Amino acid sequence: MNIKTFKGGYDDNFTYIIDNGKECIIIDPAVPLTQLQEYIKEHNLQLKFVVMMHSHRDHIVDLDKYKVPVYGHESTKIQITNPVKDNDEISIPNITFKVLHTPGHRFDCICLFDGKHLFTSDTLFIEGCGRVDFEGSEPELMQQTLEKIKNLPEHTIILPGHDYGSTPISTIGREKKNNPYLNKSEKYFLRFKKTL
Ligand SMILES: [Zn+2]
Repeated sequence: MNIKTFKGGYDDNFTYIIDNGKECIIIDPAVPLTQLQEYIKEHNLQLKFVVMMHSHRDHIVDLDKYKVPVYGHESTKIQITNPVKDNDEISIPNITFKVLHTPGHRFDCICLFDGKHLFTSDTLFIEGCGRVDFEGSEPELMQQTLEKIKNLPEHTIILPGHDYGSTPISTIGREKKNNPYLNKSEKYFLRFKKTL
């Protein structure tokens, strides 16, 4: 499995192209499609689908221009072709990702896990986590979501949706030591709950 990282977009966003040498998928479309197409063409890859990791504007760049299926969590309110839910699997030959529904930052957040890598978008950053004080955030679920991530194997490589940490990628083991948000209580996140 090859992983190509693109950095750019609205705020040091990361977009990833994953390929098996022949076919590829796009995870977290945050940079212009033309930039990704250039790479795909250069490497003679065939784009099979794109995965929307959550529906904030900076993570759905050019989504309406894609001519391939768009995967995203079933709760999302934006236009996608392939709704998925927690524990579903999405794949191309030799590469399979399990979908983890990870609400907190936003209700439709997902992470993708292949047993070695965890793509976290805005759920978990290196030494940080996504804000839970937005419209559509579910702060009451963030601690549970982070707990779920914490329970994955320590050597799991974390690939986030923004370059906000001291390194672009990390591991669960390293984050358990360096990321204070993995040890916050449910009560901590609840403080961000909007009072209606
Ligand atoms: Zn976001």
